[in-house]
Amino acid sequence: MQNDVVVVGGGISGLSLAYYSVQAGMKTTLIEKNDTTGGSFASPQYKAGGKSFWLELGAHTCYSSYQNLLGIVEACGLMGSITPRAKVPFSLYMDGQVKSLVSSLNIPELLFSAPKIFSLKKGGMSVKSYYSQIVGEKNYRNVISHFFNAVPSQLTDDFPADMMFKSREKRKDVLKNYTFAEGLQSIARAISAKSGLNVFTGKEVVSLRRENNQYVVTTSDGGEYGARALALAIPSASASKLLSSISFDLSVHLGKLKSADVDSIGVVIRKENISMKPVAALISPNDLFFSAVSRDTVPDDNFRGFAFHFKPGLDEKTRTKRITEVLGVSASKIEHTFTRLNTVPSLRLGHHEWHEKTDALLKGQKNLLLTGNYFGGMAIEDCVSRSKSEFSRVSR
Ligand SMILES: Cc1cc2nc3c(=O)[nH]c(=O)nc-3n(C[C@H](O)[C@H](O)[C@H](O)COP(=O)(O)OP(=O)(O)OC[C@H]3O[C@@H](n4cnc5c(N)ncnc54)[C@H](O)[C@@H]3O)c2cc1C
Repeated sequence: MQNDVVVVGGGISGLSLAYYSVQAGMKTTLIEKNDTTGGSFASPQYKAGGKSFWLELGAHTCYSSYQNLLGIVEACGLMGSITPRAKVPFSLYMDGQVKSLVSSLNIPELLFSAPKIFSLKKGGMSVKSYYSQIVGEKNYRNVISHFFNAVPSQLTDDFPADMMFKSREKRKDVLKNYTFAEGLQSIARAISAKSGLNVFTGKEVVSLRRENNQYVVTTSDGGEYGARALALAIPSASASKLLSSISFDLSVHLGKLKSADVDSIGVVIRKENISMKPVAALISPNDLFFSAVSRDTVPDDNFRGFAFHFKPGLDEKTRTKRITEVLGVSASKIEHTFTRLNTVPSLRLGHHEWHEKTDALLKGQKNLLLTGNYFGGMAIEDCVSRSKSEFSRVSR
């Protein structure tokens, strides 16, 4: 079948791009290498004795400021599934104890530093240089930097300060922060089910070529899919590799951006087997994991769940040992385990210039679209905004 658009990658970037394409009446095919769509929207279900429990292994929170995402959620009929997050704290785990963020801060240092927020501009500054002035050097080093590192599960000292948290206009009719009744992956399922969109899962795109004014992608099982326009919605290193047959310059340029793997293990435990107070997440400075994000934000009658986002390269025994130590449960009480590997970009000062050059190089490629979490930022709304602007650029 001849397509107007082929989208490679079924995370929210690829899915939102496919959504805009289908809405515009274009014949659209999306190809995803995993068995399900969603990418970093991963909310697998555990089923036992007629009960079911989902756990987020990737993204977990949406905000009222995610207006483009909300537009899609609304069109997919999912507004009724929006679920509030219980107000449980993001806590520190230090010296074998759960501590509050505030109790760990040096308050005099904070009070002395905080007024700088009114004069200091984030532009051109790294996360470390900006925030160590706003909260004080010790507070930054001992506490705040670890919360920042937990966001993209890597060291964020050198991230551009203006890409960490952005203020966006909020929708007043939507909860400030929320999830969905069956987790964020329900958004991926709803977009994938849209009529007019052909979705192929379990197929990795391994090569690209340009032929008769068309893009042709080949999948690992030998399948071929042709289209007038091609959208790559995969990590920058994978896009760089695939594009080497289409544009040397773009391929080399994309290859310059670094990324980090997030190695996640989710554990499901019966409520009666764990005594830790409810938390949104645990952040443990200088530990083997960047954060342990819990399902306590959507309490369940039977189970509790925690997704540990580990540093890469640790063996299973080491990770399991650390999980049992932190949660204070024996391995035999872990009823179920999920695993997941996600990729996130490692942004550095100078990223805005890198982004501008990418867009300039893209202009030289007919009907080629690039989207993902490595353009305006890695938040969900950044991904959807990029897909929207890429789609309107090419469809114009
Ligand atoms: C642990 C974690 C927690 C996060 N929490 C939040 C949060 O709470 N709120 C928030 O706003 N953001 C959060 N983020 C960020 C946000 O979720 C991601 O940046 C975003 O979901 C990325 O979407 P994407 O589609 O660009 O990439 P991905 O989700 O990585 O999707 C890319 C897809 O491409 C597929 N793929 C790759 N290569 C190929 C190929 N050759 N052929 C076919 N398919 C291929 C992959 O399998 C994957 O499904 C979080 C991220 C992580 C990792």
